Amino acid sequence: MTRPVLIVGGGPSGLSAAHALAAAGQRVVLVEKAEQLGGAPIQSGYAKLVPSGEWAKDAIGGMVRRVETDSRVEIRRRATVKAFSGGPGDFRVTLSDGTVLEAGAAILCTGFTHFDSVNKPEWGFGTYPDVVTTTQVEQMLSSGKGVRCPSDGREPERVAILLCVGSRDRQIGREWCSKICCTVSANIAMEIREAMPRCNVYIYYMDIRTFGLYEDLYYWESQEKHRVKYIKARIAEVTSDGRRLIVKGEDTLVKRPISIPFDMVVHAIGMDPNVDNMTLSAVFDVKLQKHGHIQKASVYSNTSATSRPGVFVAGAATGPETIDDSIAQGQSAAMAALALVRGAMMEAAE
Ligand SMILES: Cc1cc2nc3c(=O)[nH]c(=O)nc-3n(C[C@H](O)[C@H](O)[C@H](O)COP(=O)(O)OP(=O)(O)OC[C@H]3O[C@@H](n4cnc5c(N)ncnc54)[C@H](O)[C@@H]3O)c2cc1C
Ligand code: SF4
Repeated sequence: MTRPVLIVGGGPSGLSAAHALAAAGQRVVLVEKAEQLGGAPIQSGYAKLVPSGEWAKDAIGGMVRRVETDSRVEIRRRATVKAFSGGPGDFRVTLSDGTVLEAGAAILCTGFTHFDSVNKPEWGFGTYPDVVTTTQVEQMLSSGKGVRCPSDGREPERVAILLCVGSRDRQIGREWCSKICCTVSANIAMEIREAMPRCNVYIYYMDIRTFGLYEDLYYWESQEKHRVKYIKARIAEVTSDGRRLIVKGEDTLVKRPISIPFDMVVHAIGMDPNVDNMTLSAVFDVKLQKHGHIQKASVYSNTSATSRPGVFVAGAATGPETIDDSIAQGQSAAMAALALVRGAMMEAAE
C-alpha cells in the first residue's frame, strides 16, 4: 500500500487536492492549523463569491463536507507540521502534537494572509471605526444584517471603496497586484446598491483590473446597471470633520485636489504572503520567491513542483490567486503527487 499524501492547509486548494486524491483511491492526511476547514472564504466569512454568485458557505462549505465525509481523508485540525524529513515516496512528518506520520509526498496549500490595514495608517483604519475592510463588509453581508456603520449602526448613505490597499504599493513593500480585489469590490458595490438603493457608492482606483471575463460582468455592469461611480485618484489621507469621514486626494484625470465626505470607507485589502511562510520554508526546505510566496520550480513543465522533490504547492501559497484557479492548482498538484506515490509503489513491487 502507498503511503498517504500529506496536504497542509484546508482551504479551496487543499480541499480540491484532497478530494482529487481520495477520488483516485489515494489516502490523504490533511493538516489544518485552524479549527475550521474552508480557508479564507469560510474563516473570514465571505459573502457571495465572484464569479458564481454562490454564497461561500454553500460553495466552499460543500467542498468541506465532501472531504469531511470521505473515509480516505484523515483530518488533523489545530495542527501544524513541526519537522519533515526523508525523500520522495518516503517522508517522515512530525506534527505539533508530537504525532509522527509517514507520507509519500506533500502538497503545501497554505494560502495567504489578509493585508492588515493598520500598515496604511494615513487611510484611517484603526483611527475611525467607520473605516472598514472588504472582509468586514463581506461579513456584514453574509450575516444577513446588512451593511451598517460600526460607530452607531446607521445605514450609510455614502460609501467609498479604496482599491489597492496593501497591493501595488512600493512604499510599504508590496509590489504585487492582488488580482481579485477590483472584481470583489465591484461585486460588493453592486450588493450594497441592491440592498440600499439610496446609498451612493464610489470606487477610488489607480487602474481597474477586472481581468478576463470579469470586465462586462463587474466593471460595466456596476456602472451601467447599478450606478456605481468610479474616480481615478491618488488618495492622500482619510480624515474626519467630526460628523463624516473625508477622503482627500487628487483626481488624476482632471489633475485637481478632491475632498469628499462619506459615511463609510472600505479598504479593498490585498493578499499578503502567508505569515507562516518563513517557517514553512525552513521545515519543508522549500525556496520562497522574492516577495515571500512559495516558489514554484517551473512555470510550464511541472507547475506544481517546489524546489524540493516530492513537495508540491498549490493555490494562493504561490501568490495572489482566485478560488477557481486555486482549485485547479490543487487538482494539478494532486495529479503530480499521485504520479509520484504510485510510481514509488510500482518500483517497490518490482
Ligand atoms: C476580501 C477578499 C475576497 C475574496 N473573494 C473572492 C471571490 O469572491 N472569488 C474568488 O475567486 N477569490 C476571492 N478571493 C481570493 C480567495 O480568498 C483565494 O483565492 C482563496 O482563499 C485561495 O485558497 P487557498 O486554499 O489557496 O488559500 P486559503 O484560503 O488562504 O487557505 C489556506 C488554508 O491553510 C491553512 N494554513 C495556513 N498556514 C498553515 C500552516 N502553517 N499549517 C497548517 N495550515 C495552515 C489556513 O488556516 C487555511 O485554512 C478573495 C480574497 C479577498 C482578500
Ligand atoms: S486587483 Fe485591482 S484593487 Fe486589487 S491590487 Fe490589482 S489593481 Fe489593485
